[in-house]
Amino acid sequence: MRRDKKREKEIAKERINKLFALCDRTIESRTIESKPELAKRYAELAKKIAMRYKVKMPTEFKRRICKGCGAFLKPGVNLRVRLQGGKLIYTCLSCGTVKRYPYLKEKKMGKKQQLL
Ligand SMILES: [Zn+2]
Repeated sequence: MRRDKKREKEIAKERINKLFALCDRTIESRTIESKPELAKRYAELAKKIAMRYKVKMPTEFKRRICKGCGAFLKPGVNLRVRLQGGKLIYTCLSCGTVKRYPYLKEKKMGKKQQLL
């Protein structure tokens, strides 16, 4: 039987989205022990699935994984989000890694606008 690559990718994407929701729930849960570690493991699993099936991680999920320590980040738990000069500043409160992301959805801009 031939493997259905397209279907596999769809399943992979579904699993990634489910893991994202799971990370989100896990990290704010007060009943699960060692929740940041658990959320981190789910995030790592999602990354592995994305790599294995060559699917893209959703942008929002990608941003919520710390580039420094790999922790799953959640505002109010271990992530500080600030808006500064049209950029979102994400600070991981576990290791201090700071990332900047454009706040507005990037659109094709004229050269004049880019200089501003
Ligand atoms: Zn970190």
